[in-house]
Amino acid sequence: MHDFHLHLARLPQPEQLARLLAGQNYGYVAIACEPWEWTKVRDLSHVGVNRAAFGLHPMIASNVTEADFAKLREILESDTDAQVGEAGLDRRFPGYEPGGVQERIFRRQAELALELGRDLQIHCVGDYARIVKVLQEAGFKASPHGNSTATVNAPRPVFHRFGGDVSAVRAGIELGALFSLHADSFRKKSTAAAIPLIPADSVRFETDADENFGERFAGMDRTPSAKEIAEALIRDLGDVQRLYELAIKDA
Ligand SMILES: [Zn+2]
Repeated sequence: MHDFHLHLARLPQPEQLARLLAGQNYGYVAIACEPWEWTKVRDLSHVGVNRAAFGLHPMIASNVTEADFAKLREILESDTDAQVGEAGLDRRFPGYEPGGVQERIFRRQAELALELGRDLQIHCVGDYARIVKVLQEAGFKASPHGNSTATVNAPRPVFHRFGGDVSAVRAGIELGALFSLHADSFRKKSTAAAIPLIPADSVRFETDADENFGERFAGMDRTPSAKEIAEALIRDLGDVQRLYELAIKDA
């Protein structure tokens, strides 16, 4: 199993959890999208975090400093396997308006991903057309050799927790994008209808588990153990894969 978007450092007992996941052959991209989370994910590297992503989430865009960008570049240069992100646009947070601070912070990370030859994990709660426009302007394009394997020459946008429609799928394919599906991706009718149009080798699966993951243990009068969290992740990711298989079978 491979979880393409997991906030390992936001889950309880992350170190123990990372060891359990490694023992279960559960691979993942550990997402770190604000400075405190960068530090925590890097501190976990000794327990076998197989890949990380470092970036600046739109929820903190209005607080980002030049020092944050300098640090981000330094981390990415020291971890040559890391992706950039998650970065993007979110209408629930300040600076969402066209040309606003969210767009500026997103654009800089898109340019950084291209410069360093890294895949870019993208968060979009809002307008996919604006995301696509920034990616085009930054210079993302599909590799003529296909996009199933990343190379330094063809970094890929990753539409994380994909929630777009058919036009977002078409535009994403033009950009060589990967589409990371979450259980929520199947809830919206227009997204569910678009999912079968994604080339199979561009589909990934994710839990996006973070500090809210504990909500599924509501009613439990103690913190769930690392083992219980690991089992819940495996179940959730398996559910997403089954939803996808049903969606392409029915299409
Ligand atoms: Zn996330």
